[in-house]
Order: sequence, then structure tokens, then C-alpha cells
Amino acid sequence: MSSEEIFPIFFGVWILLGVLSFLLFFMSKNTKLKKKLWPPFVIFAGLLFIGFGYAMGFDGEPLFIMVPMVVLISFLNIRSAKFCDSCGKTNMNQNLLSPAKFCSKCGEELL
Ligand SMILES: [Zn+2]
Repeated sequence: MSSEEIFPIFFGVWILLGVLSFLLFFMSKNTKLKKKLWPPFVIFAGLLFIGFGYAMGFDGEPLFIMVPMVVLISFLNIRSAKFCDSCGKTNMNQNLLSPAKFCSKCGEELL
């Protein structure tokens, strides 16, 4: 497959993942499920991104830059999302380097 054929597939899958993550992590109040699914979801999205990058012809140096960047972003994403045990809200901290300590909705301490 050429990169022109792969791109729309990538785009479609990416949108689907976005909708899925919105429904699961922002609409759902099931904190237990969200805590369980968030790390594998982020890792899966990262792997998918690298996989499509590779399929679209990235290799050598761009791929070597892309992989550690995706790993870093995934790590920060996993770390910055906190799910409130009390009200079920997903707290995504804008400051990736210091995750939220308290729920922005109910003030409960985030563990
Ligand atoms: Zn809360």
C-alpha cells in the first residue's frame, strides 16, 4: 500500500480512537474501568501512531526521533490523567509535569 492509501485509514482509525476515548474517559463515570484501561489505551495509541508512521514510509532518523517522543508523550499522558474515585471525573492536568492532586469537580484527593 502507498502512503496515500494508508493516510485515510490512519485518519479514520485515529478519529475512531478519539471518539472512543471521549466516550470512555470523559462520558463514563466508571473510575475503576477508566483507571484500568487508560495506560493500555495510551500505549496502544502510541504504538498505532508509530506503526502508521512506519507504514507511511518513515524510517531511519525520523523514526528514531518519533519513537522516544511518542514514548515520552505516552508516559506524560498516563501520568497526567487522574480519575476521581469520588465523583468519577477525569482530571486531565494541563501542566504535564505536575499531575493534579485534587479533583477539579468535587475536591476529593486524587490517588
Ligand atoms: Zn471528584
